Amino acid sequence: MRRAGIAIALSVLVTCAGPDVPGPSRVPPIPPDEVPLLIDAAPPLDAPPIDAAVSVLEIDAPVDAVPVVAEVWLKGSTHVHARPSGDSSTPIPEVIEWYEQRKYDFIVLTDHNRVSELDAVTATPGEITLRPPAAGGLIVFAGIELTHNPSDCIPAGDASGKCRIHVNLLGATGRTNGKIVWANRKTHDRLLKYDAALEQQKTLGGIAQINHPNWFWGINGDLLAELARRGFALVEISNMAFAEWNGGDKDHPGMDAIWDAALVQGARVWGVASDDAHDYSGSAGAQYPAGGGWIMVKAAARDPQAILASIAAGRFYASTGVVLSRAEVEAGELVVEVAPGERGSHTIDLIENGTRVVRIKGGNARRPLPATGYLRAVITRGDGKQAWVQPARR
Ligand SMILES: [Zn+2]
Ligand SMILES: [Zn+2]
Repeated sequence: MRRAGIAIALSVLVTCAGPDVPGPSRVPPIPPDEVPLLIDAAPPLDAPPIDAAVSVLEIDAPVDAVPVVAEVWLKGSTHVHARPSGDSSTPIPEVIEWYEQRKYDFIVLTDHNRVSELDAVTATPGEITLRPPAAGGLIVFAGIELTHNPSDCIPAGDASGKCRIHVNLLGATGRTNGKIVWANRKTHDRLLKYDAALEQQKTLGGIAQINHPNWFWGINGDLLAELARRGFALVEISNMAFAEWNGGDKDHPGMDAIWDAALVQGARVWGVASDDAHDYSGSAGAQYPAGGGWIMVKAAARDPQAILASIAAGRFYASTGVVLSRAEVEAGELVVEVAPGERGSHTIDLIENGTRVVRIKGGNARRPLPATGYLRAVITRGDGKQAWVQPARR
């Protein structure tokens, strides 16, 4: 008798939000639009068809002959300082230890105006990481925070006149051999000052992230949209070292609103949460403590290139504490699920083209993507901690 075919349900493991648009040319290559396959379960022999919506293959070969891509969630910080920054007293090895002990998968070391090496003897030019990724150990990406603190920028920020043009490059392959001078001091134009950072990116490589842009009210939706057009892939929606600026005030919009104001213009820029860590002491009075914000990346493997490719493609969510088990597009719908282990109550706001269209009390949400524009989600826990799911478009 013919052996019953093994029915294998292949569900499309959807690309997390928004990989529909090719990445900017300055970021690492994004893998081709492969559709990874996930074996949900091998049902019993002679099982009835699983679900009309699920494609079913009849395969006589053993299950293990089917290629499987099991994607993983990886936790990391894209904004980390150590002693070479000048405003942190913690040596690099202790910074690495801090994140390793807390089960992070990766960090990007972003000292001010320098691409730090891990030590004086190990040189890694051309590499995106500062050491070979040891099995299970923390992946340490090379990076830099291009840091320029001029005054009287145009458009103006607050009455202090202070500007903060700070840009991270994640996975930089260039090395600076100490501190570099890169800023454009001949102009007050914020856009041209940010352009100088993109100019530096041509030499150093890496993915460009706009840091704490709302500090001294330095950004609006138009500027963010233009920066995205020029090549910035990431923007800090929540920088926990300067948390008081993230949400705006009575006279200024917060980063969520500014992000929406750029997204409704079609901007492709992904939202990041970071700790911008400088202090690893754990003391109550620490000024810029580690651990306040991070991203969770969905990657094909725990591999540096895969992580950078996913970040560039927006395949991650940002978090200040909320853990999600799903944050992805499935069958044309944005699907959000709070992780089962999460405690406390949750509220999910679904934001469509800049407007909140649904508020759900609970840990699950699902909504079709709009015909035009984008849909994104913000999850808020009872204690105020949040997660941001990237905007998804058809
Ligand atoms: Zn900064
Ligand atoms: Zn910083």
